[in-house]
Amino acid sequence: MLYQIDQASRMSHAWVRDRQIRQAAILLNFANKSVPLYRGRLPGIHPGQPIADDRWLRLPVLTRAMLQKASRPELGGNEQNVLANPLPKGHEQISPLKTSGSTGLPVTAFGTQLTRFLWQVWTVYEHLLHQRDFSLKLAALRPEGEQAPGVSERSENWGSSTAMLMKTGPGVVMNVRTPVIDQKRWLEQEQPGYLLSFPSNLEALMHAGLKLPRLKGIRTYGELLTPALRQTFRDAWQVPVTDVYSSQEVGYMALQCPHHDGYHVTSESVLMEVLRDDGQPCQPGEMGRVVVTTLQNFATPLIRYEIGDYAEVAEPCPCGRPGLTLKRIVGRVRNMLSTPDGNQIWPSFILRAWTHGLPISQFQFVQTHLDRIEVRLVVSRQPSAEEEQRITRSLQDLFGWPFTISFNYMDSIPRSQGGKYEEFMSMVNQATTADHQTTAATPA
Ligand SMILES: [Zn+2]
Repeated sequence: MLYQIDQASRMSHAWVRDRQIRQAAILLNFANKSVPLYRGRLPGIHPGQPIADDRWLRLPVLTRAMLQKASRPELGGNEQNVLANPLPKGHEQISPLKTSGSTGLPVTAFGTQLTRFLWQVWTVYEHLLHQRDFSLKLAALRPEGEQAPGVSERSENWGSSTAMLMKTGPGVVMNVRTPVIDQKRWLEQEQPGYLLSFPSNLEALMHAGLKLPRLKGIRTYGELLTPALRQTFRDAWQVPVTDVYSSQEVGYMALQCPHHDGYHVTSESVLMEVLRDDGQPCQPGEMGRVVVTTLQNFATPLIRYEIGDYAEVAEPCPCGRPGLTLKRIVGRVRNMLSTPDGNQIWPSFILRAWTHGLPISQFQFVQTHLDRIEVRLVVSRQPSAEEEQRITRSLQDLFGWPFTISFNYMDSIPRSQGGKYEEFMSMVNQATTADHQTTAATPA
């Protein structure tokens, strides 16, 4: 399997696209007959017959909100709607794909033995792609599993995926909700060779002064890794920082190129489109909505599934891998700031630029209305009215609009149910678009 992926990575774009469309035709035909969510919505597609590009672009897009509505009893749905019946031979061993839905409802979907196997394959492939030294210790700070915060879990290997193929060094895991200072102490005791966590958690550890002299690499997942943050981590720890784009309901979607900061779509598993507002595919340099079709999941096929992220399409990568390459994943719909004049941006916050020396240990901005932003702060002393005014003016400059700013002082800003932490959240976008959460998927 790994060999096949490696072979496919040397083929042409047209070769990959042809195989994807053939596989998609089989899946769509099946979904049209056997999955209530799609029944009768995808007529006229026959297995073995290629689907023309213009036909493909006219196929309906499935938003995350539509998937929720179909599957969640709270919304009048039923999980049977998103499950194939009957399941094809060899795909009967299903398991729920749990998404966390940190600010809203989770999504219900099911995976199969095959999708679980592919997850493991991509996990190993990603390690090989980045030439990790399997003899070292891997430490992971993540939200999944049953462990209480502060409890260290130890195993003889890096996890089931790698263990099935090779001998590895030990693996240690701790819950990402463990207080940062305890995480730091634990990591400094463990001295891992590789460290895996959410960008926001690594940022907190960096600010806490974490030093790991034996560290050889960092792997991020689950949240947006901005180019600035990636560089900050490199400067702080002097190791490569590699990111993975994945979600629980889709699986792996893109892996960082070993030679560049761009992401290669895992085209053997997903057919990814990046679409402009007019529904046409983005050209290199353009940014648009990420829409994915899972090619091997016959329990809950996700067909033209709009996951809620925006990405920028890259020029073909100089490394030669075919298929779609993303220059960056720009942001999530619900992390997008909207201004009353109709602009939308993904804000990024350089702390020094707006804090005016106020000792801020945590912050979060919530756009509650089109013209209003709530600033949540954890501070060691109450700022003066004058300081609040200065912060307000700086934020209005940063946001590019004279928003009404309100301050809310808190003891701590907790991570979401999914273990994530977001500096900017929009209630405005959530009201109009799918609540999206790129779910932390466990790279076990
Ligand atoms: Zn590349």
